[in-house]
Order: sequence, then C-alpha cells, then structure tokens
Amino acid sequence: MKIAMMARSPSLYSHRRLKEAAEARGHQLDIINTLRCYMNIASRRPEMYYNGEKLEGYDAVIPRIGASVTFYGLAVLRQFEMMGVYPLNESVAIGRSRDKLRSMQLLARDGIGLPVTTFAHDPKQTDEVLKLAGGAPIVIKLLEGTQGLGVVLADTDRSATSVVEAFRASGTLILLQEFIKESGGTDIRAIVVGGKVIAAMKRTGAEGDFRSNLHRGGSAQVIKLSPEERSTAVRAAKSMGLNVCGVDMLRANHGPVVMEVNSSPGLEGVENATGLDVAGKIIEYLENSAAKGNTKTKGKG
Ligand code: ADP
Repeated sequence: MKIAMMARSPSLYSHRRLKEAAEARGHQLDIINTLRCYMNIASRRPEMYYNGEKLEGYDAVIPRIGASVTFYGLAVLRQFEMMGVYPLNESVAIGRSRDKLRSMQLLARDGIGLPVTTFAHDPKQTDEVLKLAGGAPIVIKLLEGTQGLGVVLADTDRSATSVVEAFRASGTLILLQEFIKESGGTDIRAIVVGGKVIAAMKRTGAEGDFRSNLHRGGSAQVIKLSPEERSTAVRAAKSMGLNVCGVDMLRANHGPVVMEVNSSPGLEGVENATGLDVAGKIIEYLENSAAKGNTKTKGKG
C-alpha cells in the first residue's frame, strides 16, 4: 500500500513508529505536513498538492491532526476522502470527538457511562449548573483544553464559583463535571482498533495531582480491563464512529465512566507500558480495511 500520514512532526514517537510499522510490513508511508497541503476543490475532480506536486495514488491516509489545527486538518482529510483515499479515521468521526459537548451528548444517547456533566452559556446560571452537577468538590474543564491543561478541581462551591467567573470573564467556555474521587488520581486508557480493545494501561498522576496525564508527569502501567470496561471502550469508539482511538475512562463506584475519546492517541506510553506493537496493529487494520474502501461518509455530513 501507499499510505499518506498527515502529521506535522515526523520525529514524534507515534509518527516514527507508524512509519516503521508500515515499512516493516512492506508498505510505503509518506509523512505529509498537514498545513503545507493545498487543494483544488473543483467539481468532480478533487485534487491535493504538496510542495508543488500533486498527491496521487494513495490507498490510505492516517490523520494525526493536532488539536490546534483541527479546522484545516479536517478539510485536508475530507479532500483525501473525496479523492477516494481510505481514511484510518473519517473526518466526520474526528470532528465529533473533537467537540467535547457533542461527543458527550452522543455517548449519553448511546447509554454509555459518563460523569455527571453540566454546561451553560450564560454566566447567570453558574449556581444552577454547579448544583446540577452535585456541587463541590467539582471538576471544571475548558471546552477546548488538552493534555490536562485547563482541568481544575475546586474543593468548595465558593472556589468553584470564582474559577467559573474567572474563565467566563475571559470569554472561555467551560463545563462542570462530577469529581470521581474514588478513581484516586488514576485513569484508564483503552486503545480500540477496529472494534476491539488491543491494549490498555492505567495512568496515575504525579504525587498530589488528581490529573493522570502523562504530559503532566503521570506514569503508566499495563492493566487488565473488566469485561464491562472493555465493552464500554468499544461502544464509545462505535458511538464516535472511530476505527482507531484511545478511550479514557475513570473507575467510578457505579462502573466505568468515559471522559474522552481521542482520535489520535499517543503510542509511546501505551507501547512502553504494555510491550505491545500497537503501531503494527493499526497498520494491520488498514491492510484489512483500505482495500474494501468501506468508509461510511466519504467526507459527507
Ligand atoms: P484532557 O483532555 O485535557 O486530558 P481530561 O478531561 O482527560 O483532560 O482530564 C485530565 C485528567 O484529569 C484525567 O486524565 C483524569 O485523571 C482527571 N480527571 C478529569 N476529569 C475527572 C473527573 N470528573 N473526576 C476525577 N478525575 C478527573
């Protein structure tokens, strides 16, 4: 296969591993800087250019679109889809998962366990949404945050109200979420590929931090998931329409709750913690699916 990988930094662990895995399995993988692609949206003849050359002959595309370039990245991916190139994850599915409110609404509609989450646009409703989410201690999250930045734990209603007011004053949209204390600063990430959990790890936050992000100094270990956790991860991936994703869950007293579904999960933490060849599994999935071209949307919707 000839595979294009949309990515901005070829040297990133995940990107290196995917390239290695593709080449080890006899494929060609070209890393294409998303922001340097330009396109011709002509009717019936969609074209894409890169460094003065027309991109042609690709069987599959691996989108690794950073959160900060979602808008343009999804346009580039849609163009590939319209050219008939098989996407590892479809643009529509990535779009769903990048919108925190939309994705939580979709997960809720499918009956997947979630922390109680409330949101209001109008600052006058702060007290109400705080009460609805069960009051302090409460987690406050930026709608656009990633890697644990912009996730705050407020211990009292008063501090929650001041944090909410501070964010609101700067025009930042936020949501309030029930604090799952019993998860004890540990979360679970399950990597789902083609409707199956192929690897799972638990991440524990640095001493004194309730956030377990590896970027925030957390550490990762291999973990065995319960059947309920497995099926929650698989259903969450399906709900988003993602073929490959990382599903982040917390162990709540009443079962697993999903915090987020990530369409470009990092591979370093999970490969190191589990010793599994996650990149190889992803390429294997492409081998089995790209030829059939069984996409749902081809960029529509
Ligand atoms: P980001 O998308 O920025 O990584 P998350 O929503 O995943 O933000 O939150 C970062 C970390 O904070 C999680 O990995 C988890 O450890 C912790 N966390 C987030 N939400 C909750 C919650 N409702 N209850 C307990 N811990 C939480």
